[in-house]
Amino acid sequence: MKTLSLVSSLVVLCTAAASAFGQQYPTHNVTMMVPYAAGGPTDTVARVVAQAMGKPLGQSVIVENHPSAGGILAPELVKNAKPDGYTLLIHHIGMATTPALYRSLRFDALSDFEYIGLINDVPMTIIARGNFPAKDFNEFLAYIKANKDKMSYANAGIGAASHLCGMLFMSAIQTDLLTVAYKGTAPAMHDLLGGRVDFMCDQTTNTTAQIRSGKVKAYGVTSKQRVSSLPDVPTLDEQGMKGFEVGIWHGLYAPKGTPKPVLDKLVSSMQEALKDQSVRKRFADLGAETYPLERQTPAALQQHLKAEIDKWAPIIKKARVYAD
Ligand code: ASP
Repeated sequence: MKTLSLVSSLVVLCTAAASAFGQQYPTHNVTMMVPYAAGGPTDTVARVVAQAMGKPLGQSVIVENHPSAGGILAPELVKNAKPDGYTLLIHHIGMATTPALYRSLRFDALSDFEYIGLINDVPMTIIARGNFPAKDFNEFLAYIKANKDKMSYANAGIGAASHLCGMLFMSAIQTDLLTVAYKGTAPAMHDLLGGRVDFMCDQTTNTTAQIRSGKVKAYGVTSKQRVSSLPDVPTLDEQGMKGFEVGIWHGLYAPKGTPKPVLDKLVSSMQEALKDQSVRKRFADLGAETYPLERQTPAALQQHLKAEIDKWAPIIKKARVYAD
């Protein structure tokens, strides 16, 4: 009896302590880890969200880049961080595709994290160096096939969105090309602009400005419909690659065991940030679509992640020969 009342007093104390901690949280800066290089598309989304979350949180959210090939380092770091709400992870579709691409990972997307919510969905674009000789998608395909031993495709390593898109593209055209891996598509874009690699597939959050200024050539978008910020770029689907559709969704995570009151605050702060008209406009200008409020939730992110893992595993298995 005595033991029981001691245990229940302890439970009450712990709950009270967690809720007091939650009420005070945050008392200092929060870190948002990004799995890819600064200046790239994931980093761009992170910086917009981080800045806007600072206001409702009452503390700055500092973006920290932990680039690694395929983006597999940052999730591991966040998994091992103290679950106190001061270390968060922003990541994209790679959370769902890496399990099918790696024999072993040092984190489990489905059990090592708390979910905060879905952020936005970003289409990709197939782009080539500015002096690429093809004037349209058909010429582009013909050129690639005719010069396949000389072509190079840039990506951000196995498990990155650019890797997924490239693998699906090569599989669709049944042509294996040389890939060059970077720790993010910011450095990849740098080499594409310098003409050191031939083409890549990357999010509109990184490619819109370069396409509009004509510094790179765009041959198609990976969304079902054209993107309103790039109305002249046809979809791959409408150019004959029936059903070719890749959308890069982003989510926000915290380490497993983060107290509920802290998570609640993070959820409401993220939702507040995504309501901000300047955030929505910035995303729309870059071709990104903000998820509706009902999907900016822990349950929606968890459900989506699981559904995406199940969706991509068999597709990746089929395209795997083009993975390296
Ligand atoms: N766009 C990259 C990718 O392929 C990542 C990045 O640099 O943000 O996943």
